[in-house]
Amino acid sequence: MNTRRAATYPFLEESAAFAESHGGDIVSLIMSPRYADARKRGMKRVLESLYQSEVSYVPLIFESDQFIEVMSYPYARIIVSCVNDRFLTKRYALAESVRMNKMLRTESAREMIHIAKELGIDAVSKDDKLMMHFTDYLKLSTRIKSIDWKLVNSELFNGQVFLPNESFGRALQNALQDRIESELPLNVPNELRLALRADVDHVEIALNEMKSRYGDVAGDVSVTEFPPCMRALLAGTQNGLNLPHSGRFALVSFLHALGMDSEQIMALFSKSPDFDASKSAYQVRHITGEGSGTEYTPPECSTMKSYGICFEPDDLCGNEKVVHPLIYYRTKTRSARKDDTEEKKE
Ligand code: SF4
Repeated sequence: MNTRRAATYPFLEESAAFAESHGGDIVSLIMSPRYADARKRGMKRVLESLYQSEVSYVPLIFESDQFIEVMSYPYARIIVSCVNDRFLTKRYALAESVRMNKMLRTESAREMIHIAKELGIDAVSKDDKLMMHFTDYLKLSTRIKSIDWKLVNSELFNGQVFLPNESFGRALQNALQDRIESELPLNVPNELRLALRADVDHVEIALNEMKSRYGDVAGDVSVTEFPPCMRALLAGTQNGLNLPHSGRFALVSFLHALGMDSEQIMALFSKSPDFDASKSAYQVRHITGEGSGTEYTPPECSTMKSYGICFEPDDLCGNEKVVHPLIYYRTKTRSARKDDTEEKKE
């Protein structure tokens, strides 16, 4: 058994076998003083996912540290299950998978294939080059809205897509995220829930503070009148998709042009599971010109198309006068207002 690998990637089958070989069981993990360090690390996994969108690395040289790491993973999953909040679950799944992706950067192609197979991916390597079957590639890449990830831009051989190590790791990140999201919440018996009360309360308080800090804001902006591109980008960010830089830029500059300030835009972004308050604040303030004084305007339709972020244009987009997402929005709000007035007259 490779105990370093079992601890570094605690979702593997060999991680469970490692825990079992050391007598680790769930009831003791929750109740016994012997597992205090594993519980502490498990809580750290959850809180880091909330605050940093990423679970941190800890040195795993000694077998005792490896055991703590392995046991902390089920503890974190149990806590997330008890809180049972969709935002937290998605954010936790993302944070674990981002961590795995980072750890994969130093692994050999052989190790990466081993992890991929455990995640149910049909992957092989040839001359140290990594490949995965195109059906897996499609499944894992659809949410990455960058033209680099379109299948037509990939190197395909015998149904396998060649991928640089970094992209392979990125695809595995999505696979692990999907797996964790599909597995949670776990069914936690009531008697165990009672013993977990203090830690669950701690996470719930942190989660509620975060939600209220970046509460609900849309002001006078009517999301239903947004052009399809902006609706898709907004939905994407709120569902934890990784928007390409061009998409994030287009959305923030569009919202700002409608009169939303940085705080209001941050509130919309905060619904995303990968929301990182300090990073988002920097990006949003840069685009809205707070601090630098340079305000950016949203790109026009032709630029949106060339970036591959003109999603599902509708009939109004086909109007020759609609050359900019803002023109779409103004045209649509004007016609909605007109409909309202006519209704009132009747
Ligand atoms: S045509 Fe313009 S407004 Fe319509 S979806 Fe594309 S970019 Fe957006």
